[in-house]
Amino acid sequence: MQAITTYSVLKTTIEQVKSSGKTIGFVPTMGALHKGHASLIEYAIENCNLTVVSIFVNPTQFNNPSDLKKYPRTVERDVEFLSSFKENVIVYVPNAEEVYGNIISSKNYNFGTLENVMEGKHRPGHFDGVGTVLNKLFRQVTPDKAFFGEKDFQQLAIVKKLVQKERLDITIIGCPIYRQEDGLAMSSRNTRLTKHQLEIAPFIYKTLLTIKSQFKSQSVTYLKQYAIQEFIKKEGLELEYFEIVNEKNLKPLSRKRTHQKYRAFLAVYAGEIRLIDNIALN
Ligand code: AMP
Repeated sequence: MQAITTYSVLKTTIEQVKSSGKTIGFVPTMGALHKGHASLIEYAIENCNLTVVSIFVNPTQFNNPSDLKKYPRTVERDVEFLSSFKENVIVYVPNAEEVYGNIISSKNYNFGTLENVMEGKHRPGHFDGVGTVLNKLFRQVTPDKAFFGEKDFQQLAIVKKLVQKERLDITIIGCPIYRQEDGLAMSSRNTRLTKHQLEIAPFIYKTLLTIKSQFKSQSVTYLKQYAIQEFIKKEGLELEYFEIVNEKNLKPLSRKRTHQKYRAFLAVYAGEIRLIDNIALN
């Protein structure tokens, strides 16, 4: 498989495909591809005639420079990984200039309540960076549908808002979280975990499952305290936040209401590696 690295080549390829009435699916990634990404690509292949997978480590969405520096970059391996999909998949690997031009900066979006909690609260500027790069990539790739993982559920909500704000005619599709057999959500950052950290990290999902099993019978205050205490007891994992929010607007839950859907979210540090996960509660 040959990676496309310039917008001009991408544009020509896409124009050819569109002129024959075919649909374009898009899976934006930051590379270090794994089975979680593959599951999104499968959805795109099922739903569209041509799937574009982009690999671009977006500098403007990293609030921590060391995280950006250490983010795994494995482009050659990734292109090989994508070759297994055979037809109807192309890979776009632009450099920063191809995406941003000469000035690498993010636009100031106001995503309202969606960005004031969890990832938005703990990673200032993160969603402005995500919104900026996706707006640029969406305009280059011009997909009919774009596929995002519920692993980054808050990002998925932000992207739905972004296409409204930017008036883009793209259907945003959320795909389920792909987990290892031991429950750990697949993530590019997992490649940085030590053997010991890989052994203890499945505790994250186990705790989420326990919380889900108690959601009906226990209060939100109890469940929050439970999560905090569990991670205090667990050596090697440090809880950054735990929240239970309404799935629709991501507002923290104070009182359970019927006919509303709730989800628990957390961010945990294993050493300096930050892991996030979430689970539907009802
Ligand atoms: P990333 O390369 O981490 O920016 O992720 C690219 C896309 O893959 C995003 O839409 C993520 O939500 C999605 N993704 C990452 N990990 C998983 C996973 N374990 N299951 C499902 N989707 C995922």
